[in-house]
Amino acid sequence: MKDLTIIGGGPAATAVAVYAARKRLTGTLITQEWGGQSNVSEDVQNWIGTPHISGAELGKSFEVHVREYADDVIDIVVPKTVTAIEKTTEGFATVTADGARYESRAVFIGVGSSRRKLVAKGADEFEHKGLTYCASCDGPLFSGRDVIVVGGGNAGFETAAQLLAYTNSVTLFEFNEKFLADEITVEKLTKNEKFTALTNVEITEVVGDAFVTSVKYKNRATGEEHTMDTGGIFIEIGMIPNTQIVANLVELDAHNMIIVDPYTQRTSVEGIWAAGDCTNVRYHQNNIAAGDGVKAIEDMYGYLR
Ligand SMILES: Cc1cc2nc3c(=O)[nH]c(=O)nc-3n(C[C@H](O)[C@H](O)[C@H](O)COP(=O)(O)OP(=O)(O)OC[C@H]3O[C@@H](n4cnc5c(N)ncnc54)[C@H](O)[C@@H]3O)c2cc1C
Repeated sequence: MKDLTIIGGGPAATAVAVYAARKRLTGTLITQEWGGQSNVSEDVQNWIGTPHISGAELGKSFEVHVREYADDVIDIVVPKTVTAIEKTTEGFATVTADGARYESRAVFIGVGSSRRKLVAKGADEFEHKGLTYCASCDGPLFSGRDVIVVGGGNAGFETAAQLLAYTNSVTLFEFNEKFLADEITVEKLTKNEKFTALTNVEITEVVGDAFVTSVKYKNRATGEEHTMDTGGIFIEIGMIPNTQIVANLVELDAHNMIIVDPYTQRTSVEGIWAAGDCTNVRYHQNNIAAGDGVKAIEDMYGYLR
């Protein structure tokens, strides 16, 4: 029976693994891959202490850091997918796709989330070629351009506000008749003359050559089709947390994010902690995932020892 099982290979879980190993807690880290979501980023510019690092290098550095301290205390199981966590008399059994069971007294969940993807012709082809899912990561690269934000919730409006500081103009596309964002946020932005918002519109095609050049879209009320030139597209249509594996175990919010106590990162089940993008915290970033992971392992240490 080990002290803990750590699920994930992104900043949250690897921070937990490094701290756990240095505290000589015994455990198993199970992940599908190292690095997590920003693996695909060409240039991560806000990992504190590192002005530039590619997502791939960042992922490699997580692995190197965990292996440096894992010694004989943390077993590393990768690539492997966790399919369920079961409660046992002494703690938990973490079950993987091949049927293996990893027993531990406590579990840390750092499974992150996946961005909801834009479904339109060309959307996949132009991802990272002018179409991006992370404004705070890639936004500054689009300085001085006319850009589009897809999604009229708070995230879409916040992204637009951020981009207006350095782009030439922002046009926001909302699929529904009304914005989901708070009225006050909508009002504030619509006063900015560089900002335009369209409702009831659907992007049907992303067009470009080496890089995005325009979008085709239709007015959902009239069916009229249009084309708009653009220097970049930011998608903010929601996140899908990878929490299916614990859906029947810990309490989730309406968006399927794991509800945690932000003071300790404890979930609704004693013995299970979570941090990062799979949790219901307000902001999701690498530094936050790592920091909240550290908060979790400090609290787990108190519980386990
Ligand atoms: C394209 C893009 C670029 C980004 N760029 C930046 C940036 O520049 N700066 C920044 O601060 N943030 C950036 N972010 C956000 C940042 O990546 C996330 O906030 C961060 O990765 C969250 O970390 P996490 O550890 O919670 O989860 P994730 O990074 O999502 O990691 C989850 C891990 O869990 C593993 N996993 C998931 N399910 C299972 C399972 N069932 N079994 C086993 N393993 C599993 C995955 O393989 C992965 O290793 C970006 C996001 C995207 C999508």
